[in-house]
Amino acid sequence: MTQPLDLAGLGAGPFNLSIAALIDGLNRQGRSIRSTFFERKSSFSWHPGMLLPDARMQTSYLKDLVTGIAPTSPYSFLNYLVSHKRFYQFLSAELTAVTRAEYADYLRWVSEQLPNVQFNSPVENVEFSEGQFRLYFDGVSEPVKAKNICLGTGKRPHIPECARKHIGGNVFHAIGIAQRQFSVEGLRVAVVGGGQTGAEVFQSMMDNQWGRPASVHWLSRRQNFEPLDETPFTNEFFTPQYVDAFFQLPGKIKQRLVASQKLASDGISPDTLKALYQKLYDKAVRGQAEHLDLRPYREMSGMTYENGRYSLELLNGLNQQSESLQADVVVLCTGFESDIPVYMDSLRSKLSIDAEGQFELSRDFEVEWNGPSENRIFAVNAGRHSHGIAEPQMSLMCWRSASIINRLLGEQVFDLEQRVSLVNWQEELQPEVEMAYDMAI
Ligand SMILES: Cc1cc2nc3c(=O)[nH]c(=O)nc-3n(C[C@H](O)[C@H](O)[C@H](O)COP(=O)(O)OP(=O)(O)OC[C@H]3O[C@@H](n4cnc5c(N)ncnc54)[C@H](O)[C@@H]3O)c2cc1C
Repeated sequence: MTQPLDLAGLGAGPFNLSIAALIDGLNRQGRSIRSTFFERKSSFSWHPGMLLPDARMQTSYLKDLVTGIAPTSPYSFLNYLVSHKRFYQFLSAELTAVTRAEYADYLRWVSEQLPNVQFNSPVENVEFSEGQFRLYFDGVSEPVKAKNICLGTGKRPHIPECARKHIGGNVFHAIGIAQRQFSVEGLRVAVVGGGQTGAEVFQSMMDNQWGRPASVHWLSRRQNFEPLDETPFTNEFFTPQYVDAFFQLPGKIKQRLVASQKLASDGISPDTLKALYQKLYDKAVRGQAEHLDLRPYREMSGMTYENGRYSLELLNGLNQQSESLQADVVVLCTGFESDIPVYMDSLRSKLSIDAEGQFELSRDFEVEWNGPSENRIFAVNAGRHSHGIAEPQMSLMCWRSASIINRLLGEQVFDLEQRVSLVNWQEELQPEVEMAYDMAI
């Protein structure tokens, strides 16, 4: 009889790949942790539908799958460069941010070396009985058994309510835009969303990537087309110390902080903004910018379809006036949202899910559940509400992976102690402060 896995990973995106890489590193040092990460795709790809020309990373290449925890691992970005014989050229290029295409290739390179990643394996259903999780796959009757699981199947596109009934050939989320066959030649295009994706799509429209549009309207709910804040003290939000301090706060306060820290994680890269503005200016000088219309501080409140075109209702936050806009094509760059994966339906009643429909997570990324405590359900990219804005990002990816593995093994195999703290986020909470917090929520 095959032994159950110690850990089954569901999905092999970057976040679970990081766990897989660190586990493989431990096994190379003599451990024998049985793990498999099941990925539905036939080979690795990283958001291929959003790989627009020259799209760049918003985080350092050193924040890779392993380096922050295991810098001597063979799965580091630096080892990828050395193995591909371009280390010196990489240094000479003095890149502030590598392209997403190069980073995706690095991730693919790691995934192809890992013995614990299995492709063509879409998980359909997860059950639990006799002290084991059972993972069911399409067309396979025998389940895979595992003592613990880690959910890492990513997020789903967020579609604004008013756009839902129009989704189709001419109204779509940007998630697949780079692989989509379509033309906007002679059409009016609305790009909805003022984050990095909105900027990249608008820039591609300016470059006539899908034909020359009659007009392009770029809408952002934010007050302006706002930059990602990459300054040092803001980067402190992406440290283990901050996550620890944040984790202890009451839910209402966390919610407020996450909302107020938007630009630390969801702003537009300053380099992108500069390039975009300079291109706009250049076009204006040449009299070629009349068809480009940038509208910040506009909330899209409605969308209707009549006579072959879409009418977008907007509220201008600056003067509180209503506006409307006609478009033939609407590209939604409106981000992603978490949900409880459908393959967990059989176990849903046993999981702790909060009023917003999100997992209740422990400090070590365990979903609280009404099952045996020795069988753990971990979840990655599911805890922005509990662990803060670093959670959906790569910045602390390998630190989170190490926290999960330590918890899984019940020992500190990875040393997570941080000695340098430049910011004192909090003193130990006094009981009366805790009480005040409790009353505030
Ligand atoms: C366009 C874009 C650019 C980004 N750029 C950055 C950046 O520069 N820096 C940064 O820090 N963060 C960035 N992020 C945010 C974040 O790092 C990425 O979204 C990252 O891919 C999240 O990793 P993940 O493993 O949680 O999810 P995903 O990458 O979505 O991977 C989930 C995997 O699970 C698989 N899967 C889904 N369902 C099943 C199933 N039932 N069975 C088996 N497999 C399944 C999917 O095929 C997929 O491979 C970016 C996000 C996007 C969308």
